[in-house]
Amino acid sequence: MKRDAYEVLGVPRDADERQIKKAFRTKARELHPDVNRHDADAEEKFKELAEAHEILSDPERRQVYDRYGHEGLSSRGFESPFQGFGSFSDIFDAFFGGGDVFGGGGGGGAVQGGDVAVAVEITLEDAARDSQVDVEYDAVGLCEHCNGNAAEPGTPIRTCERCGGAGQLRAVTRTAFGQLVRTQACDVCGGDGKIPETPCSVCRGRGRQATRRKLTIDIPAGIADEQRIRLAGRGHAGERGGPSGDLYVLVRVAEDERFVRDGNDLVHVLNLPAPSAALGTTVTVPTLEGEESLDIPPGTQPGTVLNLRGKGMPSLRRGRRGDQRVLVNVVIPRNLSAEQRDMLDRFADTLGPHNLDDEGERESLFSRVRRAFG
Ligand SMILES: [Zn+2]
Ligand SMILES: [Zn+2]
Repeated sequence: MKRDAYEVLGVPRDADERQIKKAFRTKARELHPDVNRHDADAEEKFKELAEAHEILSDPERRQVYDRYGHEGLSSRGFESPFQGFGSFSDIFDAFFGGGDVFGGGGGGGAVQGGDVAVAVEITLEDAARDSQVDVEYDAVGLCEHCNGNAAEPGTPIRTCERCGGAGQLRAVTRTAFGQLVRTQACDVCGGDGKIPETPCSVCRGRGRQATRRKLTIDIPAGIADEQRIRLAGRGHAGERGGPSGDLYVLVRVAEDERFVRDGNDLVHVLNLPAPSAALGTTVTVPTLEGEESLDIPPGTQPGTVLNLRGKGMPSLRRGRRGDQRVLVNVVIPRNLSAEQRDMLDRFADTLGPHNLDDEGERESLFSRVRRAFG
């Protein structure tokens, strides 16, 4: 079963061309073959991603897909875009010209290193204060043994005969969608224009090596779910003198069953037994700083919103801290015993209009609940 193309790219069904392209590039970076070459899944994921992109970036194909799905495409002769490609790296290069995704050209000149994306999950409490989180990720860096020269230290380096030292070649690739002409990094020297006679024993002549890196990331108080933190220069090393890429840390704030976040405000739903709502009481409610006591006035109605000022989330822009709103949910007792039923019966008989009218409260339950969410 093929996954839905929109789901694969993580875009809404009405996404425009720009959104689709952006989602593709962002996700493709995470599957960089240098980092994922030991991960057979990554290649499959990249193919799936590239195919989803091929479908959604072509208006005609997208229209067919929207109406008839993957089956509709194959029955109309649209094929997966991977005919005639070899390795994972070749496929990747075919889409990004051997450097485009990393910001540079197709070989020869300096190429900026690729970006790396990692995701971390923090609790709501951590999001409410400045916190730190450790991340581990793989990134390509210069080989320390050969210092990026790709040659075993002290051995000669000669000019590449295939490209004459230019580092690039023109290549024509046949795909299911026609011919693709592009400038490609030289396959003999890999774009360097130079070939070491004795390749570096550590990096096997690549000059670069993926290594595990560990970093402690500072997360500012008030960060929202799905925000990204960029650490410049912490991504893959550049090639031929190019700068390093960046590290993007996607911060996920775990759901907290006690609170619903509404911007900088938090909403807590308080379950209050009907008699307590009628009589008034003092309850304890959870806040980010622990339990807090809260007075419930007599005659509190379902949907009443009580405000704990300044008990919400801090503002990322160092503005005023949000509030915690407490939404009262009046719980009607169930499973009454015969005795309780009898008491409630007798109580009900005593109720008069002055117990039940709304004392001029014009606000409906619906609008009160809506107010709880800003
Ligand atoms: Zn060459
Ligand atoms: Zn080396």
